[in-house]
Amino acid sequence: MLKTIEDLKGLKGKRVLVRVDFNVPQKAGVIRDDNRIRAALPTINYLVKEGARVILMSHLGKIKWKEPDLAKIEEMKKANDMAPVAARLGELVAPVKVGFCPETRGEKLVAAASELKDGEILVVQNTRYEKGEEKNDPELAKAWAALADVYVLDAFGSAHRAHASTVGVPSILKAEGKPVAEGYLMIKEVDNLTRCVEVAKEDRPYIAILGGFKVSDKIKVIDSLLKKCDKLIIGGAMAYTFKKALGEEIGNSPVQDDQLEYAKKCVEDAKAAGKEILLPCDSVVTDSFEPVEGRVIKVVEGNIPEGYQGVDIGPKTIEAYQKAIASARMIFWNGPMGVFEQDEFQAGTKAVCVAIKELEGKAFTVCGGGDSASAVKQFGFKESFSHVSTGGGASLEMIENDGHLPGVDVLR
Ligand code: AMP
Repeated sequence: MLKTIEDLKGLKGKRVLVRVDFNVPQKAGVIRDDNRIRAALPTINYLVKEGARVILMSHLGKIKWKEPDLAKIEEMKKANDMAPVAARLGELVAPVKVGFCPETRGEKLVAAASELKDGEILVVQNTRYEKGEEKNDPELAKAWAALADVYVLDAFGSAHRAHASTVGVPSILKAEGKPVAEGYLMIKEVDNLTRCVEVAKEDRPYIAILGGFKVSDKIKVIDSLLKKCDKLIIGGAMAYTFKKALGEEIGNSPVQDDQLEYAKKCVEDAKAAGKEILLPCDSVVTDSFEPVEGRVIKVVEGNIPEGYQGVDIGPKTIEAYQKAIASARMIFWNGPMGVFEQDEFQAGTKAVCVAIKELEGKAFTVCGGGDSASAVKQFGFKESFSHVSTGGGASLEMIENDGHLPGVDVLR
């Protein structure tokens, strides 16, 4: 059983350590998009209202600890300072008091945490300032766990990583008999993605749509989805590996030759299980990805000639995919149908959005984060989905591992 934040009783005066995802896009302290901070507000506001003493921890950006030049590590730290994030949170929750501790360990942090008053918030410096965070260092986890009476995980985008702040701390607190629970953002993500792996009768036909670049990145997802869904639609660059495996010419399209056997077996196994894998019957192709000046772009049916590469699904494929999608009661989608970053090659990805919009009120539709979530937002379809996941890696791992993630399992 997963305890939720609302199952926690008697929070008044308790020090609640919340692992949030404040990994916002920022440069030199200027936050480009504060959505991730806003996404954590329901959990933070609830805890404040209950009179908890809220300690917030998150990673921000990357610190390459393998870098031998210490000055460069200091530069990376400076570029990923959590202080501006704490300041932005302060504006969002005003007049609630938000303090910031520029350190990740030691007396200053212990003092700041113990001086917190009921309903106040303390934001701790970037967890990745600690080399041991990503290694789930037991000493570090112990130091952080000592700050808290209760642990809440609300960082879905980091829940697939067994780090000190996501797994180490709750493991220790749990062993000490202290409560650990999921926050509101986690509840939404876990519930919606669990529905895609524990498939109810009324959610069939269940159609999975996969796209993106590499087959090898998605093998486990494909295997898992093929067991659960009724039909698998494949687009994006990865479709060309499947097409080549089935004996088609794919010209200069991206291909993973080491995955041809896998792709072939996938199609055979699906067939044997009475499931259909839909592949593009036509493609938008170009003779030059770069430079764009003077390049030829055209639609090709079937085999793609030498000198051309597939960059999007073609109009007939769009029609076939839209027809298939229209019959679904549940959709899980991950990965764009083409190079959606360029206007000329975004029709396929947009068409999937349109088809899913048509399902509003008739089906449960999930976009599994990453590039497809960016596309959904960019094209203005976010509200047409039942759920757009905030964590690309985490949502795929949840599908791969039948609803299990290290950060979620430790709470169970
Ligand atoms: P992924 O991270 O695996 O979901 O891949 C997303 C990336 O795949 C996006 O940047 C797309 O531009 C790219 N992509 C999708 N289809 C193609 C294609 N036919 N050729 C090249 N890149 C593609």
